Amino acid sequence: MIDLTRLKNRVLGYPPYAYYFILERLNRKWSIERTRFRACTVNAEVQDYSNSIEFFLFKEHNRGNEFEQPTEERAKLVSNIANKFRTDACFVCASPLTPIVQIVNFDDHCDYVEYSWCQQCDHSQYSVLPSKEWITNWYLTNWDTSKSLDQNLEVRRPTYRYYNRLKEYLGGGKLKVLDIGAGYGEKILPFKEHGHELFCTEATPRRADYLRRHVTPNVFLGSFDDPGVQEQLLRHGPYDLIFSYHVVEHIYNPTEELQLLKQIASKDAIFYLAIPEFYKEGILNNIYQMEHVESFSRNSGKYLLKQLGFETICAKDDLFQYYSDYCQYFVGKKAESPESIRVDTGFNRQKMTDYLNEVFHLDQIQRLSSNAFSYTYFKHAPLTYLVSKDTKQKCRQVEKHLPIRIYHKNLPLFWMVS
Ligand SMILES: [Zn+2]
Repeated sequence: MIDLTRLKNRVLGYPPYAYYFILERLNRKWSIERTRFRACTVNAEVQDYSNSIEFFLFKEHNRGNEFEQPTEERAKLVSNIANKFRTDACFVCASPLTPIVQIVNFDDHCDYVEYSWCQQCDHSQYSVLPSKEWITNWYLTNWDTSKSLDQNLEVRRPTYRYYNRLKEYLGGGKLKVLDIGAGYGEKILPFKEHGHELFCTEATPRRADYLRRHVTPNVFLGSFDDPGVQEQLLRHGPYDLIFSYHVVEHIYNPTEELQLLKQIASKDAIFYLAIPEFYKEGILNNIYQMEHVESFSRNSGKYLLKQLGFETICAKDDLFQYYSDYCQYFVGKKAESPESIRVDTGFNRQKMTDYLNEVFHLDQIQRLSSNAFSYTYFKHAPLTYLVSKDTKQKCRQVEKHLPIRIYHKNLPLFWMVS
């Protein structure tokens, strides 16, 4: 019998897929996910505080603001966060980072978060952000709390796409499959149906509980580098397939945190890694959505696999994921001598400045006759920013005026979708 719900989902899902497919072949600049720019005038003046390009977020009262929090308690949690984590070395290759954007508390310029780029491996990540303990606490208390279990499961039906995609890389026999950050297990379940043994790690209690009841009893609650989780992983390994779907971009220093993979991967293990792609994800998404601690280019993804002992044998865009065009996936095979895997290094700074020019519409800002503009980012309310005459000039030579500094007054510096 035809599964009508599945058929309906297929039919409804086709137009967005066709849209991204065509977009990819014509010009990605037309993507509805690109930041849209509009000049406007605001009755206020601003002056720059530094040599950087500076934008001042205008707090409008007449519409819901992206950064305002639903409760006072939440506002307190995400404002003036002390003891931030700071690094000047790339999480993937440990080379020095170039800061590209800072979101600064207007009333206390020492309170800021910072996003950086690595010229060596083409990675991008936060370099100043709340501590790891803070983020862990967020996942334990505020993550995945806004929807009911049924609402969550409605969009997370078992999918066979990943099983079918990986079949050709897997040997015969019963395999041990490890899903890092398994969520509700809808992608890994088909492996169980085909007789493989499942193991999951999951950092959110509600999801871990669901996994235990519906997917596999082998669920280890906590972050991947939690000593208790690591001990369990070692005890049950080695694993033949290690699967990770949109988790690694949430991890502080994935090279360090995932080193255990070297020990728990079996001799011919396959590593499947699905993550957003930096140049497609759109930088505003990375800057404001703090849950993405970092964003991988195609190259830094391959570099990470090498650091974890895997050689990339497949790396592709993944158009169907989230019906969006910003996802990519990698298939890695355990390497005998990871040191000899070749990955590109040494990227031109121009690559990043061209990208910043495009996504921030810096050419339009330098020609701006008014004092403000708005960005409309996919599915979000327009955000209005004020600029000084100096900043308009600075936009002509972005490379000399980095990081771009964005000031927030009486607002948190980032949002966290829960
Ligand atoms: Zn790097």
